[in-house]
Amino acid sequence: MSAPIRPQPGILDIALYQGGQSVLEGHAEPLKLSSNENPFGPSPAALRAMAAALGDSHRYPSTDHATLRAAIAEVHGLDADRIICGTGSDEIIHLLCQAYVGEGLEVMHTEHGFAMYRISALAAGATPVEVPERDRVVDVGAILDRAGPETRLVFIANPANPTATFLPMDALTRLADGLPETCVLVLDGAYAEFAEGYDGGKALVEARQNVVMMRTFSKAYGLGGLRVGYGYAPRDIIDVLNRIRGPFNLSGVALAGAEAAVRDLDWVAKCLQDNAEERARLTGGLRQLGIACDESFANFVLARFADEAEALAADAFLKRHGIIVRHPKNYGFPQALRITVGRPEDNSRVLDALASFKGAA
Ligand SMILES: *Cc1c(COP(=O)(O)O)cnc(C)c1O
Repeated sequence: MSAPIRPQPGILDIALYQGGQSVLEGHAEPLKLSSNENPFGPSPAALRAMAAALGDSHRYPSTDHATLRAAIAEVHGLDADRIICGTGSDEIIHLLCQAYVGEGLEVMHTEHGFAMYRISALAAGATPVEVPERDRVVDVGAILDRAGPETRLVFIANPANPTATFLPMDALTRLADGLPETCVLVLDGAYAEFAEGYDGGKALVEARQNVVMMRTFSKAYGLGGLRVGYGYAPRDIIDVLNRIRGPFNLSGVALAGAEAAVRDLDWVAKCLQDNAEERARLTGGLRQLGIACDESFANFVLARFADEAEALAADAFLKRHGIIVRHPKNYGFPQALRITVGRPEDNSRVLDALASFKGAA
């Protein structure tokens, strides 16, 4: 006999999200390079704004996020009326799935795509559909071949995680043009800032009815713990999502911190420049050690070893040296380690440790 209290279909098919490991036995302060966090932390201006906002914690926060949306719009040249803010882009993914899919409808993501797409699709009762990639790059042709009338959402992270590869604008345009009219293309720009010259696809959003861009304060802005992200979409979609969004989803402290962060252009520019230099050094260093590594457009690299056994041995070796990286086995890369670009001294530690690992092998 089945239990009388049962969740909606799909929910028990959800495997719990696995975050990057953060504690390491025997190491009081491990070097954490497992979650693509900004190694320099939040902007000092954001920290001051959050401290100042704490005293208003007895007040409910703004429900329309007008001040934060205006700041984002001003800094990035967007239309504030087409912005919706969420507790991280995770909430935007969730709202899109709740609003646009359900039983019998499909949510498409690619072979190595971010776990939250599948989780939110199943939570909405929809069917997640995985499409192959080609040499670790999103394959527009494969998506267009598979998309049908039941496909209502297609999620693409660009740059992608955990591959760090990038699709240029012409490929994104071809994808948006080729999808059925009833299907929304969602461009997850969690790492957009790290791809030089890429604006996350805002022109595609503005020119079309079926494209949504998502951005976050969790990566380049160093505010993963604050939980702020946003979507940029046609007004009809914004209107739909706002109807199901919790009215007080973002705290006053989060709103204040994100606004100060988006206005602190110098801080983010410095972090991005540092990331670009160190990413090149890390990639070059890995290749010199005979560890394969695609060009990265993000703030991490995917280091590919000979096989799963070597990746696991390298992971264990790094852990013994107090370094935590990510083994992305559940993303289809048992033979790889995803390494977040750290501060210069952090990356030197990683390269030195891997050189010893390779030397000892
Ligand atoms: C980190 C990440 C996000 C950001 O999630 P938040 O909820 O904004 O912290 C979104 N998409 C991908 C692919 C990511 O790696």
